[in-house]
Amino acid sequence: MQNSNRRHIAYFSCDSACRLAALDLRNGISNSNIRHFRNSSNSRKNNTYVISNSNKTRYSWNHEISISPALGFSARAFSFQGTVRSSSKSVRIRREMAVSPQPLGMQSGTGQDFVDSVNPCTGDIVVRVPATPLDTIPGIFEKARTAQKKWAAHPLRERCEMLRQLADAIFERRDDISGVITRETGKPRAEAILAEVLLALDTANFLARQAPRWLRPERVPHHNIALKAKSGWLEFQPHGVVAIISPWNFPFAIPMTEIIPALVAGNAVLLKPSELTPATGALVGELIEQAGFPKGLVQVLQGGGDVGAAIIEAGPAKVFFTGSVATGRRIAEACASKLIPSVLELGGKDAMIVLADADLEIASSAAVWGGFTNCGQACLSVERVYVEQSAAERFTQLCVEKTKKLRLGPASDCDADIGPMIRLRQLERVEQQLREAQQQGARILTGGNRRPDLGPNFLEPAVVTHVDHSMQLMREETFGPVLAIRSVASGDEAVALANDSPFGLSASVWTGDTRRGRELASRIRAGSVMINDVASYYGMSEAPHGGPGWSGWGRTHSRLGLLEMVQVKYVDVDRLPRFAKPWWYGYSEDFAAAAGSMIEALFAPSWKRRFQAILGKRGACGLIFRRRRI
Ligand code: NAD
Repeated sequence: MQNSNRRHIAYFSCDSACRLAALDLRNGISNSNIRHFRNSSNSRKNNTYVISNSNKTRYSWNHEISISPALGFSARAFSFQGTVRSSSKSVRIRREMAVSPQPLGMQSGTGQDFVDSVNPCTGDIVVRVPATPLDTIPGIFEKARTAQKKWAAHPLRERCEMLRQLADAIFERRDDISGVITRETGKPRAEAILAEVLLALDTANFLARQAPRWLRPERVPHHNIALKAKSGWLEFQPHGVVAIISPWNFPFAIPMTEIIPALVAGNAVLLKPSELTPATGALVGELIEQAGFPKGLVQVLQGGGDVGAAIIEAGPAKVFFTGSVATGRRIAEACASKLIPSVLELGGKDAMIVLADADLEIASSAAVWGGFTNCGQACLSVERVYVEQSAAERFTQLCVEKTKKLRLGPASDCDADIGPMIRLRQLERVEQQLREAQQQGARILTGGNRRPDLGPNFLEPAVVTHVDHSMQLMREETFGPVLAIRSVASGDEAVALANDSPFGLSASVWTGDTRRGRELASRIRAGSVMINDVASYYGMSEAPHGGPGWSGWGRTHSRLGLLEMVQVKYVDVDRLPRFAKPWWYGYSEDFAAAAGSMIEALFAPSWKRRFQAILGKRGACGLIFRRRRI
C-alpha cells in the first residue's frame, strides 16, 4: 500500500563530509522498525542512502523528508520512496538536499557562530545550531520582560491549562524527543524515554494539578493573642525573568522540570542548554512554541559558558544552575556580586550502604544499574559502595558477574545497555582516576578498557575494590562507569565513610530491616536517602531534589522546587482599622512600664503573674488606655 502522507517524518544528520550520519524519525515510522542505517560506498557514489529494515513487517513509504530549520540546517526537502518487504530488503533514499556543513568552530558567511551537536558514538558532527550572539542578549531580555508581564497577569488556571498543552506536545512527539536525545548523548533509547521524556510529562501533569493549590494565597494564623485583630496572607509571586542554565547529561529532563514550574508560577525563562546538547535545547524551544506559549516567554540561548555568563551579567531575577562544582562556584560569585538569588544543583559522590541482611541479588543489580546508567554520567548514581564485611565477597562477585553481562553499543542499537561517554576528555578523566587508584593498590575486577572497535568514547564499565579515601576515585566525582566497592566492619563505619565527602546529593541504604535503614538514613548527610532503591526518587514529582555542601543549594522538583520559582510576599490585613496601634508614639514612663507588663502578661511562668500584669495604668492595659498619643 502506498502511503501518500507528505508530512515531515525525519531529521537527517549530516557531518562535515556531507554524509548522512544518523536518523531521528518523526511521525509515521518508529525507530524500532529501523535497526540499521548506513550509507554504503555504493550509495555514496550514486547519491543515495540506505535504511535496512530488520523487522519482518512489510513497509512501503512515499514520504517527504525535511530538515527542521530549528536544528540549524539549510537544506532543501527531499523525498524518499520505497518498499520494504522483508528483513533483508532495504529502502533507498535519493539525496537531493543541499546541506552546507561547516567544520567545527567555523563561522558562516554571515559571521554567524554555530554550536555543534556531535554524535558521541561516532564523533561526527550531526547538526549545527546557530549560537546566540552576545550582543543580542539585552534585546532578548527585553522581549522576555514584556512577555512575562502579560503572562503573569493570566489567571493561574490558564497557566495550568498551558502546561497540559505542553504535556500533549511532549506526548505527541515522544519518539522524536527520545531520538534526538539518544543521538546527541549516546544514551540508550530506553533511558531517554524513562529518565527524560517521562519526567517532563509527569512534571507537567503533576504541576497542572497541584499548582492551583500551592500557589494560591495562603492564610497565616497568628498565635499571639496581642495580634488576633490581624489576618495574614502569603502570596506567591513570580520572580520575573529567570535563567536556567543546564548540563548535557539529562538535556531534556533537567531544563523541562525547571521550565515547567517557572512558567506555571508566572515567570519568563531564558534557557541556556549545554553546548554539548544544542539540538535537544532547540527541541525544548520547539515544544514550547508548539504548545502555544506566548512568543518571547521561553527563549533558548545557544552557546558555551560565555553565553551563560552574559545572561547572568544581564541581570535575571533568579538563576537556576545545574552543572559542575567548578562552574557552580563561578556562577555563585557572579550572582553574589549582583545579589541575584540562585539555586545550584551541582555534583554528587553518592554512597550506597549495603548491610549484611540485605537481599544481595537485588542490591547488586541496583548497584550495577545505579553505577552505570547513563554510562555513569549521572549526578545521582552509585559512585561508592560500602558493604558489611560478611556480605562483601558475595556482593562483589555478583556485581562483577552482572557487569560482565552488560552490552556496550551505539545508541542506535536498542539492545545495548550502555552507550558511549559524552566526550573523550570525560573518558580520559575516568581513566586517570582508575590509573591513580590502581597505583595506590586498588584492584579492577572487570572493565576499565576502551572499546575503539565501537567508537572513540566507549569505555567498559568497571568494578573496583580495595579502595580507600586517599584515592581521587573515592573523593572526587567520577562521572563515568565505575563502581568502587569497599568492605566495612559495620553500618556505623559505612555512615562515617559516606559522610566523609564534601558532596551530599543522595545516598542509599540496603537492608532487610527498614527501621535500621531509616535510622542510618537519618544520620547520612545528603539531600535524599533511598532505602532499598537508588536514584529513582528523581522521577517522583513529589520528591525534592538537591543536597548540601558541594552538591549546591536550593531545591528543584516537588513543592519546594515550585516555591523556588516564586517570591513569597506577606500581606497583612488589620481588622480594626479605626484604632491607633498601641505601640505607636506617645511614649511616657507609664507607657514603658505598661510595655514591661505586657511582656509579663504574655510570658510570665505562672498564670497568676500573667493575670496580675494586665490591669492598672502601668499594667499591660495601659498600652491601650493611655492619655498621650501622637
Ligand atoms: P558544566 O558546569 O560544565 O556546564 C553546565 C552549564 O553551565 C553548561 O550549559 C555550560 O555552558 C554553562 N556554563 C559554563 N561556564 C559558565 C559560566 N561561567 N557562566 C554561566 N554558565 C556557564 O557541567 P556539565 O559538564 O554540563 O554537567 C556535568 C556536571 O553537572 C556534573 O558535575 C554533574 O554532577 C552535574 N549535574 C548535577 C545535577 C544535579 O541535579 N545536582 C544534575 C545533572 C548534572
